[in-house]
Amino acid sequence: MVDLQIQFHPDRHAYTNVCPDWTLPKRDGLSYLFVQGQHSRIVAGGFPSVQVGPDTPSLTITIPRDRDIFGVLLLGNPYGPRQENIPAPRTRFREMWTSPEGAALRGMLRLFGGLWHCGQVFEDPYWRKILFEMAKGEAGRKRWRTLSQFQQRFGNLRQEALAESPDHNYWSQRRSFDEWFHRDFDSLVETGVFRQGTEIRCSNCGSYCWYPVENLGPSLACLGCGDAVSLPTEASWSFRVNELISDSLRSRGTLAVIQSLYLLERESREMFLMLPSQNMADAPDAEPVTDLDIVALVDGLFVIGEAKSSASGFDQQIVDKLADLAEHICPDRLLFAAPDGEWPEHVVQHVASVRENLARFGIDVRELRLRWI
Ligand SMILES: [Zn+2]
Repeated sequence: MVDLQIQFHPDRHAYTNVCPDWTLPKRDGLSYLFVQGQHSRIVAGGFPSVQVGPDTPSLTITIPRDRDIFGVLLLGNPYGPRQENIPAPRTRFREMWTSPEGAALRGMLRLFGGLWHCGQVFEDPYWRKILFEMAKGEAGRKRWRTLSQFQQRFGNLRQEALAESPDHNYWSQRRSFDEWFHRDFDSLVETGVFRQGTEIRCSNCGSYCWYPVENLGPSLACLGCGDAVSLPTEASWSFRVNELISDSLRSRGTLAVIQSLYLLERESREMFLMLPSQNMADAPDAEPVTDLDIVALVDGLFVIGEAKSSASGFDQQIVDKLADLAEHICPDRLLFAAPDGEWPEHVVQHVASVRENLARFGIDVRELRLRWI
């Protein structure tokens, strides 16, 4: 047997010096994705390993798609040949597809330039607060802001935070909306997280509307009455949060999912791979039985889980359902993720009993306590 040490997507690690290798859990069908037609398996250490002999002049290695890797893990090797020495997975699912929440998350991650960059923006208390405020678009407040309003809000938030706790770690170190924040802001505009445009008043119907920069011309149709309005000669730029992001952020569950995945990626020392939320069904064309918020490979461990914006959302029914799912899918780890500090005692106990029950299947059950929300 020859162990294959294959670099894991160097293109996805352009921002770090880390160069991890593909390390995978020992599951039937995974090694087959890399070397079809050869006798192969995953060996200790997580490397795919393949049988070669004098009659093997060359070896073709394929880097599988992320979805195919998780297809094997969640659906139980539906495509590859069976291997006698590895027990068949217990999974009952036959179909998986990205849920609407997962599709929105995928779009968001694309805008931010990946999970890492997205997590870094939301990890920053100022940007997190601003993005939420603008996404929610509170009544009576415009959903667009000028650069000076961004700066002004920075001052207010700093003042409020320091009045509450004068040694606030973040705010005491950041005195002004300095060049670093300007740079962050420029890159958020460049990637389309903030859209640039201007507010124009229509002289016919009197409405103030916001027009994105790509739609501007010397004359344009009023969004209110449709009459022609002309671009003011002294227009000033203002910015809105991209609609996909603001729609996603209106449910706080999205942030819990982002933070969970970002934490998993940040804490991984080797390879990290994820799929956005997946709907799972028992049969082709069937209604989904459930969706899975967290589907990831972390340092060779297969991790699934659920992220809630509040731990009280883990009621008896949901915890039992996740335990049942885990028993069918057999991940290495099952995560219950929710903001820290408000975990009701009955939830903690219920999770502990699931931990005890699933230990016999070798499934590690953990709470993931989030600190941003
Ligand atoms: Zn008008």
